[in-house]
Amino acid sequence: MPTSLVTGGAGFLGSHLCDYLLARDHRVICVDNLETGSLRNIAHIRTANFEFRMLDITSHYEVAEPVDLIFHMASPASPIDYARLPLHTLKVGAYGTHNTLGLAKAKRARFLLASTSEVYGDPLVHPQPETYWGNVNPIGPRGVYDEAKRYAEALAMAYLRQQGVDTCIARIFNTFGPRLRANDGRAIPAFLGQALTDRPLTVFGDGSQTRSFCYVDDLIRGLVALAESEVHEPVNIGNPNEMSLLEMAELVVELTDSRSEIVFEALPVDDPQVRQPDISRAKDLLGWEPEIDVREGLRRTIAEYTERLGGPVIP
Ligand code: NAD
Repeated sequence: MPTSLVTGGAGFLGSHLCDYLLARDHRVICVDNLETGSLRNIAHIRTANFEFRMLDITSHYEVAEPVDLIFHMASPASPIDYARLPLHTLKVGAYGTHNTLGLAKAKRARFLLASTSEVYGDPLVHPQPETYWGNVNPIGPRGVYDEAKRYAEALAMAYLRQQGVDTCIARIFNTFGPRLRANDGRAIPAFLGQALTDRPLTVFGDGSQTRSFCYVDDLIRGLVALAESEVHEPVNIGNPNEMSLLEMAELVVELTDSRSEIVFEALPVDDPQVRQPDISRAKDLLGWEPEIDVREGLRRTIAEYTERLGGPVIP
């Protein structure tokens, strides 16, 4: 039975990853400091193959048992979180990634870095292939997150080239699904919270900026396919089905049968105008592509959201 360690395993993506690995008969060690995650996300897991450890990975940490795979998911991930925690975000990308790569080296484990489409910044190339180096503003409010992830990528490549650690890098594009926090500031949970309580949906700018939304189950399948491959170079994992934020707001209103209207607010600083993954590499090297379309993904998310929050949703 392989052992996987998941940093950030009590977060949105990390908890779905733990579920998926356990279903594939992995032993799972979940490491988290609950900064943005929650024990609620893993409370349903009842197996002796799962263990939660409350640890802050920005300090040196050790794990006694052998580990085969490390999924390094820990990091504040939504603009609200990294605006609140700018130094912590930089430290997780730097010290947290150093410490976790050091553990991968000691355990001779395969290491997967959860990187992000934000490494492309406000892209001048569309869609974005992995060969694009990006257009990031290092000193803007989003710089703490974007540069932390770019640094973490550089670190993973240095550990691969110089230390012989078996690393890979997943560039994750916008992902949604059950367990997204209602108040985490990302577009879909914000729209859902507003639509389900018939309050106006707030769209930033004129809503023409695009995103490509991937359903969480597809994303997790892609991460594990990458971890189980021998690929080292970065791979985009996301859904290329691009839509504007206004279209997404309208779809949420339709699927929730809401009476909400849509209102427009000022665009945040450095908000990327377009975002769409080129997933040719994932298709060629991993045989992976998304299978769940955005409508179906939203239906599942709305069902869980309504059940979890039971009644009026206060985002
Ligand atoms: P999340 O906030 O739900 O999960 C992050 C987890 O990391 C949380 O449980 C948090 O408590 C934990 N954490 C933060 N600092 C820590 C520390 N110092 N020590 C231990 N644990 C710590 O976010 P998410 O959406 O699940 O994102 C997971 C990863 O995927 C992040 O690295 C993020 O950058 C990346 N990512 C996510 C998306 C997305 O659309 N969700 C897109 C691109 C990249």
